[in-house]
Amino acid sequence: MRKLGILRFGNIDNDLILFITNELGKIFSNVFNKVEVLKKIEKIPPIAFNQQRNQYKAPLIMEVIRSNALNSGYDKILGIVNVDLYVPNLNFIFGQAEFSESGKDTRACIISITRLMPSFYKNIELNKDLVKLLYLRTLKEALHEIGHTLGLRHCNSFNCVMRFSNCLEDTDEKPAYFCKKCAKKIGIFI
Ligand SMILES: [Zn+2]
Ligand SMILES: [Zn+2]
Repeated sequence: MRKLGILRFGNIDNDLILFITNELGKIFSNVFNKVEVLKKIEKIPPIAFNQQRNQYKAPLIMEVIRSNALNSGYDKILGIVNVDLYVPNLNFIFGQAEFSESGKDTRACIISITRLMPSFYKNIELNKDLVKLLYLRTLKEALHEIGHTLGLRHCNSFNCVMRFSNCLEDTDEKPAYFCKKCAKKIGIFI
């Protein structure tokens, strides 16, 4: 049985987690038998924190996610954090994933909601529409990173969630679904 786990680090809004879990369950119904929320990890490993950058190093958190997957029998685990992530040589990342062409042996991916929040860019209260926007952005980033773990590379189609996002505008422009070619490759019927 193939299972996808959703692993929160620290406090992330419960409704957002439920939304993501539901949507991923529907979209990946042919890929994963189950999409389940795992017991949350209270604290991000302090070793991942870089004081100079005031950011967390994603690959170190990915190790925790990977070992969680290996120990728990989940095929893949999506980690969700609310801290700013980076990898060396990049200012920040929205997310990261293990990748292999076959989609096998990959276990972990991670997304950060920090830069998906409208309040990161300006001092505003979240209203209903902005919450909706945050949910949609989070779903897109989740689909994108899980897509990588399933063996998808970046896609040039404008109509595909696997299109690379360099900035938030790119994320907002792309749809929350896979193009036909990518969907077919990972066994999703659309
Ligand atoms: Zn990517
Ligand atoms: Zn595509």
